[in-house]
Amino acid sequence: MNFYVLTLFPEMIQQGLGTSITGRALEKGTISLEAVNIRDYAENKHHKVDDYPYGGGAGMVMQAAPVYGAYEAVKENMASPPRVVYLTPQGQVFHQKMAEELAREENLVFLCGHYEGIDERVLEEIVTDYVSIGDYVLTGGELPAMVMIDAISRMVPGVLSNEESARTESFSDNLLEHPQYSRPEVWRGKNVPQVLLSGHHANIERWRREQSLLRTAVRRPDLLETAVLSEKDKKYLHE
Ligand code: SAM
Repeated sequence: MNFYVLTLFPEMIQQGLGTSITGRALEKGTISLEAVNIRDYAENKHHKVDDYPYGGGAGMVMQAAPVYGAYEAVKENMASPPRVVYLTPQGQVFHQKMAEELAREENLVFLCGHYEGIDERVLEEIVTDYVSIGDYVLTGGELPAMVMIDAISRMVPGVLSNEESARTESFSDNLLEHPQYSRPEVWRGKNVPQVLLSGHHANIERWRREQSLLRTAVRRPDLLETAVLSEKDKKYLHE
């Protein structure tokens, strides 16, 4: 999986994703990451990439030409035009299923806006997906791009050392994950649930499933509407 990020702040992307699990995946070559500086494609000697909005109003707008230049440069070596994700508070809100779906692409390009955003004409020309990471406004698209790349990378085979953990985590089956415990057995008078110490795998699995159902019902009841539930699950929820 090859990630390309078109940005005015490439160092943010490289630093943010160059550590921990994504950092290791980059070292191993399981994923690759190229942060392309849009400023390098400015058509003026001061490398200016923004200008005042037509019609007036506050702030500056990123101009079309440098963004298009950066896009053309990354597209050059690809067999077919890539999907281009524009990070924007006006997009569809990012979720786990979207991460899973995007992880199947060979190349993904992320476009990060700044200031008041980007000239609409270049968005019309190159963007295939408009994605938001939530209903709030950030100063730029770099953090949202990193959020997406992190979530997508975890879905790429070989990135997580334990593949199982990606399959059973929150949002698989549209449920939240059960609570987790580690040593010691007693901490500040609180015991680890007895069933987890029993070694009885079927009981442990059932307990985890029930905790998952319970937690989802309390914290995110909206998820249950589309969760994949067995008859046993439904019975448990209605008890
Ligand atoms: N004027 C824009 C609007 O009202 O929709 C907001 C621009 S915002 C200050 C600057 C950039 O940050 C955007 O172009 C986008 O790339 C990024 N951004 C801000 N909030 C975001 C969010 N919730 N999700 C994804 N990207 C976001």
